[in-house]
Amino acid sequence: MDKECSICQQVDSWRQGGNPFVIAEFDHCLWVVSPHQFHQGYTLLLLKNHVRDLHDLEPNVHDALFREVRIAAQAAVAAYQPWRMNYASLGNQVQHVHVHLFPRYENDPDHLQHPWHGAQEFEQHRINGEQAQEITMRLRAHL
Ligand SMILES: [Zn+2]
Repeated sequence: MDKECSICQQVDSWRQGGNPFVIAEFDHCLWVVSPHQFHQGYTLLLLKNHVRDLHDLEPNVHDALFREVRIAAQAAVAAYQPWRMNYASLGNQVQHVHVHLFPRYENDPDHLQHPWHGAQEFEQHRINGEQAQEITMRLRAHL
């Protein structure tokens, strides 16, 4: 754990249990609901260990991470029936491996754009713990 890293701090505290934003704990990742739902069903996979870049992962961990991405994405597809999924792992702002899973919908007028196209509206779609719990239950039903 890197005590300066916000994802390490989040993983450390959220693994204690009882957080409505945690959908599941996999071998390598914590799967969590995004605090804003501009894209309905938007979740993230947070690597439990502090690793800076995907290419720094041991090959077996890299493969396992992508199996966890697939399990999460398949649950999101089953729960939300999106037009398609967008996967993003950038790490420019927080340099700790994490993967954004954005369900995209054809009725989104900007569905051909990248998922941060509407980022200025994300804050208006912030959810509370009760709403997060509804999303975690909906997703867990498809694990
Ligand atoms: Zn970290």
